Amino acid sequence: MGISRRSALKVMAAATATMVGTTLGVHQTQAAAVVPRPDAVGMLYDATRCIGCKACMVACNEANDVTPDTSASGGLWDMPLDLNEHAKNIIKLYRDPATGAQSFVKRQCMHCLDPACVGACMLGAMKKGDKGIVSYDPDLCIGCRYCEMGCPFNVPKFEWSKAIPKLVKCELCRHRSQGPACCEVCPVGAVIYGKRTDLLADAHQRLAQNPGRYVPKVYGEHEAGGTQVLYLAHVDFEKLGLPAYSDEPVPRRVRTIQDTIYKGFVAPVALYGLLAAVMLRNREKPDSTKREDGQP
Ligand code: SF4
Ligand code: SF4
Ligand code: SF4
Repeated sequence: MGISRRSALKVMAAATATMVGTTLGVHQTQAAAVVPRPDAVGMLYDATRCIGCKACMVACNEANDVTPDTSASGGLWDMPLDLNEHAKNIIKLYRDPATGAQSFVKRQCMHCLDPACVGACMLGAMKKGDKGIVSYDPDLCIGCRYCEMGCPFNVPKFEWSKAIPKLVKCELCRHRSQGPACCEVCPVGAVIYGKRTDLLADAHQRLAQNPGRYVPKVYGEHEAGGTQVLYLAHVDFEKLGLPAYSDEPVPRRVRTIQDTIYKGFVAPVALYGLLAAVMLRNREKPDSTKREDGQP
């Protein structure tokens, strides 16, 4: 099967972007700490309120036209084991083996203030855009999966089952005028949507009013440079799968690695670009030969 002109152009664009990215990476490594933009929106998930009904998972699939993952249930019901190409949003249950303490935890893209996926993407397919939402453009994606490898929260998932795969991740339902579907359907207000500053103030108020109810911190306020999805919980965040990152934005470390990789990757990608151009030319050649010979 021949390579399309579009694919060839993408590969050649990758070569160019890689060279540009190398330069940018050095510059960005030296950037200052990220200050949240004033219009940044996000979600506040309070694990102490969540009843594990998974209505948010169903609503997420419906709102995003995602086929439910029934593989772990023999086809009976949506039961993904983790985020995957069929699950942009998942509710998991943690049970402490020693104390028996339990907690649900909601997982989806964290919409980082300084997203490592954006820093890792050579072609700008991952973008931090309107209201700080981290979006994905499949038309710019060449499937290199650098974003998947760079994400500190293990969020973007590749569509391995498709012939033309995309990356799958929560985009905060940016296509919906009424905001995230998961927040809209939650029957107990365990996950709410709003401006990050308001959500943060709300979270701190809950901590102050119920000091014995919570682990005394808002996860995402500072972790990994800060995120637009914030968490409150009564169980250690690490046990819920939320890593104990420092305040340093993760992209700084990623960019350092990226700079090294890209320096070595410029030549191979440029070569692939050249190969794609040759393949494209060869694919077009037989057609013109036929026309000249008058053969069918
Ligand atoms: S959680 Fe991962 S995919 Fe989401 S914005 Fe942060 S780095 Fe990107
Ligand atoms: S914001 Fe939308 S895409 Fe993201 S988890 Fe909620 S319903 Fe799913
Ligand atoms: S809809 Fe609300 S209560 Fe139900 S699982 Fe999702 S976050 Fe928890």
